[in-house]
Amino acid sequence: MDIFSAPQFRDDNEARKALEGVLWPDGPVCAHCGTINHAYATKRAGVYRCAEKECRKDFSVTTKTVMERSHIALHKWLQAFHLMCSSKKGISAHQLHRILDIHYESAWFMCHRIRECMRQGGLGPLGGSGKVVEADETYFGNIPESKRPKTKSRGRPFPRTRPE
Ligand SMILES: [Zn+2]
Repeated sequence: MDIFSAPQFRDDNEARKALEGVLWPDGPVCAHCGTINHAYATKRAGVYRCAEKECRKDFSVTTKTVMERSHIALHKWLQAFHLMCSSKKGISAHQLHRILDIHYESAWFMCHRIRECMRQGGLGPLGGSGKVVEADETYFGNIPESKRPKTKSRGRPFPRTRPE
């Protein structure tokens, strides 16, 4: 696909470098204590260790982001970001699954995570602030044969203990 000819869309490592360039313009930012550019690279590619005395934790550019611990290659995440932001009418998980050549379940998961991080502000109360929420009642669980409602009373509330 032509729009994905840029190296960060083709290669996992290039994608990581591109992300670091965007998220860390002034050097690596510790995901744990927030210290900027006071970390050193470890032997593992993309993993940094905070040089702050009281922190010294490991982090990468995906730590504490929606991509953390994902098994999906970073360049596929970048492709998904691009597709979800550039498609006029949005994009379905199925289409993402076809374009990125990943499992549908993975695509579905990515869609949810990406939408979640695009969300603004916290979750408001259900139905809106100061609004009334109505809910129908229902019954859960199995009912012993002896206590099961008769056909004519099916779907209607019934007393917990039925007179015999
Ligand atoms: Zn730190």
